[in-house]
Amino acid sequence: MRDFSGDTALISLNTATVQAQWTLEQCIEGCARHGIGGIAPWRDKLAECGAGRAAAMIRDAGLRVSGLCRGGMFPAATPAGRQAALDDNRRAVDDAAAIGAECLILVVGGLPEGSKNIAGARAQVRDGIAALLEHSRAAGMPLAIEPLHPMYAADRACVNTLKQANDLCDALGSGVGVAVDVYHVWWDPDLEAEIARAGAASRILGFHVCDWLVPTTDLLLDRGMMGDGVIDIPKIRGWVEAAGYDGASEVEIFSKDNWWRRDADEVLATCVQRHQTAV
Ligand code: ZN
Repeated sequence: MRDFSGDTALISLNTATVQAQWTLEQCIEGCARHGIGGIAPWRDKLAECGAGRAAAMIRDAGLRVSGLCRGGMFPAATPAGRQAALDDNRRAVDDAAAIGAECLILVVGGLPEGSKNIAGARAQVRDGIAALLEHSRAAGMPLAIEPLHPMYAADRACVNTLKQANDLCDALGSGVGVAVDVYHVWWDPDLEAEIARAGAASRILGFHVCDWLVPTTDLLLDRGMMGDGVIDIPKIRGWVEAAGYDGASEVEIFSKDNWWRRDADEVLATCVQRHQTAV
């Protein structure tokens, strides 16, 4: 396994981790200050900054862009809604390319409004990604399907296991891979085997870390700092690295009552420190 104690360059900051405190400009400067080698912006922060200015700042700071968050949200109740989603995803691909992102993260979407047809939603996801692939392949931008914990199946992502994501990749062909976020997949009894399967196909495009708190008090905004919860992160990182992944360890913590209320430099310093003890 790789050693993060001497090489903080392998750490990436997902801007969600300090989204309440910092702009994208401040995140870029903060990464440089703390020796964090990568950044993963969300599109709202990127839009505030402007993709051109962000690209220049990121380049000047020497940061890698481990991913752009996010595309996806493919299912919709009407053809017009699905077309609008596809158009937005094409813009997301262009944004990702503009800042030199290593992949575009896909949070694929849940049930269309008024629907109880999850199989139909999953078919819309498959068709949506397939429709996006011509544009993303032409842009040279890999699409990273991120399976989300099943508690988000209705409203955020109906792809909920790494097996589902691997099956989608097999069906869709080149230009698409997976992002492994420990928060979403740590509980899965098939995780080790599906990570190996993804690695054998060279399709692990991202590795996201945070922790699962007990109890979790908010379904979306109560993620823990690595080491504060119950996920055996080093074990999962070992599987991912054994499968050939050599990209960044991206910290992605949504924490409205804790980490979003702290001084952002303290948050980044803690992220670096926990990479030595809990990742
Ligand atoms: Zn993630």
